[in-house]
Amino acid sequence: MTVEFVCVGTEILLGNIVNTNAAYLAEQCAMLGLSCYHQSVVGDNEERMEEVIRQAVSRSDIVILSGGLGPTRDDLTKEVTAKVFGMELVEDPHSRSRIEAYFQKSGRQITENNWKQAMVPKGAIVVDNDNGTAPGLILCKDGKRAVLLPGPPNELIPMFEKDIRPYLNQLEPEGIYSKMVKICGSGESKVESLITDLLEKQTNPTIAPYAKTGEVHLRITAKAAGEEKAEALMKPVIEELYRRFGKQIFTTEEEVTLEETVVSLLKEQHLTVTTAESCSGGLTAGRLLNVPGASEVYREGYITYSNEAKEKLLGVSHDTLMTCGAVSEETACQMAEGAAKAAGADLAVSVTGVAGPDGGTEEKPVGLVYIGCYNRGSVFARAFHFSGNRAKNREQAVAKALTMLRE
Ligand code: ATP
Ligand code: MG
Repeated sequence: MTVEFVCVGTEILLGNIVNTNAAYLAEQCAMLGLSCYHQSVVGDNEERMEEVIRQAVSRSDIVILSGGLGPTRDDLTKEVTAKVFGMELVEDPHSRSRIEAYFQKSGRQITENNWKQAMVPKGAIVVDNDNGTAPGLILCKDGKRAVLLPGPPNELIPMFEKDIRPYLNQLEPEGIYSKMVKICGSGESKVESLITDLLEKQTNPTIAPYAKTGEVHLRITAKAAGEEKAEALMKPVIEELYRRFGKQIFTTEEEVTLEETVVSLLKEQHLTVTTAESCSGGLTAGRLLNVPGASEVYREGYITYSNEAKEKLLGVSHDTLMTCGAVSEETACQMAEGAAKAAGADLAVSVTGVAGPDGGTEEKPVGLVYIGCYNRGSVFARAFHFSGNRAKNREQAVAKALTMLRE
């Protein structure tokens, strides 16, 4: 089934308010499995509104309108939609008494124009508004439906959740479910090239790759009647991805981050970790400590930006710094080993590189970063060549440092 949204209000058209209702409705309907191909905004003008509603009704099964249900003269959505559906307006006694009760409760005087809100298109389903006076309405004719919702988000959202979502759900029992297969240690083009065949034959579920710094995410989306059926559709695809990427997949859950998987792996093995950072200046530690409960695996760390700090805090040898330089495999190894010893940690990761924009040489260009890893007695370092600005290079270095910690 197709759905589209028409948001009514001159203030949206002029940019005075941001159309958050459209974003909310679009996201909700997508999750319900409804296909949306159009959205529009129209001012409080009768002719133009009629034109937009007619077009929407002609091309979509369900049209959800927001705004323009209030008591004032420029609130015309109900009148115009009723006209398009060929329905007359009649007074709804239930709505009338709810409006009366609403005013009584708030201790305000009812003005005459409020009764307008008790007028409903004949045959429409009236949806109670628990947070305002204008009821919602559902009009249905010849297989076409219009759902009218009040404009204020604090009225629209509760109404959608309580009554409209269940209504739409029974019209379209199939919903959209998704999993996020998150991969680290391979770039986007590499990942794509390894799954071209899967991308070509995808239908249900679909696979959509997204690149994030240092990670590639594959969103697997299935359309099915219920979560269990969706999971069954996604399972073989996810299994196939595990066959191809193995341990590089660190989660299949949308909310789980790389640092969370690192911290939980360390917890499982009762290991502690520390960080020794030069160009990344504490960002690796910052990401690890994003994880609640990281104190179980992380006690202290080091930001050693200068050569002196690397010597003093981590015991990097003066000779190494002079002969190999601060940005070198040797320094990265000594930083990691020195940090582990100083902090009494089982593991350590070190980052030293040229973040840019200055400081690059022919031999050691901007973007060259060495990451060292110490693990209970053994140590190694790897060189990476990043190609971003300073912020991007640092972010990429941190992603690699976390990835190496997982290995
Ligand atoms: P009211 O009874 O308050 O007049 P209404 O149903 O007639 O409600 P509008 O007059 O169109 O709705 O809008 C009322 C208020 O709701 C706006 O001033 C704005 O704050 C908010 N609003 C309306 N439409 C949107 C939208 N699309 N996105 C976000 N907020 C909106
Ligand atoms: Mg209004």
